[in-house]
Amino acid sequence: MADARFTLLNRANEIGANSYLLEIGDARVVLDAGMHPKESGADALPRYEDIPHDSIDAVIVTHSHLDHVGTLPILMRDQPSARVFMTPATSALGDALLHNSVNVMKSQRVELGIEDYPLFTHRALEELAPRIEPRDYEKPFDLDWNGTARATFYDAGHILGSAGVLLEGSDKSFFYSGDVHFDDHTLIRGARFPDLGNRTLDALIVETTRGESPRPAGYCRKNEEERFIGDIRSCLTGGGSVLIPVFAIGKTQEVLTMLHNYKENGDLPDAPVYIGGLSTKMTVIYDKFSDSTRRCSPGFKILRDMNPITGNRRGRRRIPLERGAIYALSSGMMTENTTSNGFARGFIENPANMLLFVGYADPDSPGGKIRSAQPGDNIRLDKDLPELPLNCGVEIYDFSGHATRDQLLAFMQQTNARQTVLVHGDPAAQEWFADQVEGAVVPSPGKPLRL
Ligand SMILES: [Zn+2]
Ligand SMILES: [Zn+2]
Repeated sequence: MADARFTLLNRANEIGANSYLLEIGDARVVLDAGMHPKESGADALPRYEDIPHDSIDAVIVTHSHLDHVGTLPILMRDQPSARVFMTPATSALGDALLHNSVNVMKSQRVELGIEDYPLFTHRALEELAPRIEPRDYEKPFDLDWNGTARATFYDAGHILGSAGVLLEGSDKSFFYSGDVHFDDHTLIRGARFPDLGNRTLDALIVETTRGESPRPAGYCRKNEEERFIGDIRSCLTGGGSVLIPVFAIGKTQEVLTMLHNYKENGDLPDAPVYIGGLSTKMTVIYDKFSDSTRRCSPGFKILRDMNPITGNRRGRRRIPLERGAIYALSSGMMTENTTSNGFARGFIENPANMLLFVGYADPDSPGGKIRSAQPGDNIRLDKDLPELPLNCGVEIYDFSGHATRDQLLAFMQQTNARQTVLVHGDPAAQEWFADQVEGAVVPSPGKPLRL
């Protein structure tokens, strides 16, 4: 039997610069090419130094979040013969994200004095674009020129274009979940994976993001939506405005669709909705794929049917702060120098306003600090500017794009692979699964695991 090996290229067992090397027979494949969201410079990269120059046959990118695609140009620079595969929507979103990433790194070079930045350029992205080979869901394709291994994408229901991938060699098969969400969202459908239990997989490589804690008993997405909309309604009728910090890819479009649905039903006043910066670019791409991807409201196009007002952080089209408006602005964690961070100045001091969190925020980010603050506490949004009192209301909602741990556990048990490789989670999350799943392994960074 041909050998197969899996190597974790992350520098630690965490959700960071996600990347994995899978060797199937003669084919050497890299799964995902992430950038660590909290590290900078070389520490933000996967262990690419472990991969010899020009030794990779194929790179597969499962979706366009920074922690999966953020260092693709760096990997490709060192792997000139590698083919690179992703879904068409991931290619479109990833291209926009990486161009934005160049701009972010350029300003960080100046502001934080990081000499290595930018790690790649707009020109490098233009050169990379024609190398990307888009592949549709559920259509198998060869990974190497000899045809010794092939792959098939399946809709992972996490964000637009996200995929889990079935990898098949001559006598072994594997499935990598990517980031996965099994239930329908408001806009996009949940995952559509093949029946893996029938296949006797040699290994399931699976995310464990939410392994650390169960979802509260009685959670129901519909009720969570109602609570969210109810809070917006009462804030607007009380003369305030609502700021929703959102990730540009995924959360922006989900929140806008929620607002649209409730406005259509007359359950939400027809208040102006503002979006800004990168979110607008990503929404254009979501709309472009509205007919060719699985949606809860087929044909619905956000920008055409909902007509949000688009603007920027600065300049002529600066987003105005007015009463009775809804602002869905990126970034989701209110990181410094983003639209949501800049807009919060002048906003959080007003007790009539509300700040609503719909996604994850790192505890050290400005958004994370606000979430753990008490009313009236002083908040530092930007290290160069004075602190501000947090007088507005703050609420947190669970609209996670990741499967719950119980759903993931059921998925692992049903799949019943010979080995279950636990990735994309903190150590406590991985331990929880390792305790319950027979044959589960937590890989060590850089140490090949025989599959
Ligand atoms: Zn993701
Ligand atoms: Zn991820």
